[in-house]
Amino acid sequence: MYLFERDSIVVSTAAELLAAHQPLADSMGSCATCGATAPCLTAINARQIAEATTAGWQPADH
Ligand SMILES: [Zn+2]
Repeated sequence: MYLFERDSIVVSTAAELLAAHQPLADSMGSCATCGATAPCLTAINARQIAEATTAGWQPADH
């Protein structure tokens, strides 16, 4: 069951957060944005929104 429309502000915000909260290659697994061990809570939550979004939206992996 999908909870979010892919063009909603919730989903676009999650996509931006997910793109920002990724570990840098040389950061020893720490999130580039908040510094928490990757995947950080922000990335996990954003990923959950992505997974609950209507088909057709693919979250950025980078
Ligand atoms: Zn983060």
